[in-house]
Amino acid sequence: MVRILDYYGLLENTSLQASVKILCPFHEDLKPSLLVNFEKNNWYCFGCGKTGFATDFVRQVDSLNSIEALHKVHKIMNSKNKSKIQITIQEKRPPKELRIEAKEYFYSLPKPSWKNISKHYMISRGFTNKTLIDHDVRINQNTTYPVILPILDMGKFKGWVCRSDKDIDRKYLYNTGFSRQSTLLGEYDKPWVFIAEGYMDWLKARQFGILNSAAILGWKITPKQIEKLSNYTDKVICGLDNTDSGTKGYLELKKHFKVRKFNYPETIKDIGEMDKFAFQKAWQDTIQKANKKSLF
Ligand SMILES: [Zn+2]
Repeated sequence: MVRILDYYGLLENTSLQASVKILCPFHEDLKPSLLVNFEKNNWYCFGCGKTGFATDFVRQVDSLNSIEALHKVHKIMNSKNKSKIQITIQEKRPPKELRIEAKEYFYSLPKPSWKNISKHYMISRGFTNKTLIDHDVRINQNTTYPVILPILDMGKFKGWVCRSDKDIDRKYLYNTGFSRQSTLLGEYDKPWVFIAEGYMDWLKARQFGILNSAAILGWKITPKQIEKLSNYTDKVICGLDNTDSGTKGYLELKKHFKVRKFNYPETIKDIGEMDKFAFQKAWQDTIQKANKKSLF
């Protein structure tokens, strides 16, 4: 794929990582969305969904048939103009080492004096100074991601996540090596637990007084998360988003736990959109219904 991309002049740098994102030649691409993996020699475009290996790439770029494409790849590979591109494949580092590094980085950041800060992304999202202090929320120097939050799973540091205040594709940025699938954010050792989707929803639920809660950091609970949760409880209040994916997540939870759906008001999408009053009302309705069905 290096030789092929170089041939078409699609590589800007002469030194590359094991994978790289380039502008996709198959659709009108404004920011690089075609991911090329040089270890597997395949490619996938997040914009138009096209995917394949080197011959598929050449075939589609030059509108050839498969045989012609094979010939062309052969020609490019055997051409005398050797590529000057160097690829650096980073060695995979052990997760524990990466976690220690993430922990050192996070705790080296200064603790903001939230009490004296009145203008910040987190405050505009309705978080109180107390919540921000209690949960050790820190400020990131990187302006695209002004906030950095520790991910504690039953009190144990698992990594950090940054949140962007801009409308970009990648709203959350996790530390290298962070494993979402084996992490549950929060404390969940009571006979029931409230399940939130993202970090912000979880933090809001905490602010509203729901302390026994965990975020699954996505809409679909993973097998490892199920295993961890099952050590403590089989009863769950599902506070996943009030959206189609949240409903899918709810059905997934139902396969493994006794689930009560959090009673979202119809027009509300997630906890972030609720104030304390609306949340407490919905919470009371949820608990009443659960009691009626003697679920808890
Ligand atoms: Zn594309």
